Amino acid sequence: MPIDSSKFFDSIRIKPTKGSAKRKAQAGQEAAPCEWAGCQNKGSHRVRKGRENAREYWHFCLDHVREYSRSYNFFQGMNPEAVAR
Ligand SMILES: [Zn+2]
Repeated sequence: MPIDSSKFFDSIRIKPTKGSAKRKAQAGQEAAPCEWAGCQNKGSHRVRKGRENAREYWHFCLDHVREYSRSYNFFQGMNPEAVAR
């Protein structure tokens, strides 16, 4: 019986490499540069652009994620006209 069970686990370990392509895509996203103007850092953090653009993300470095969320919270308390200025 022990021989049979080890064979069973071996067959489980060998699977199609479906996950590796997905991992590759995620690594590509991590390599995206920070989208903050003039920043040369890696944009390893994703931030949602807004409620209406739920599927769009900014790629920011950690510093600018913090900067962005700070200004985002700030702008929420203002009217859109003032934000545009
Ligand atoms: Zn940055």
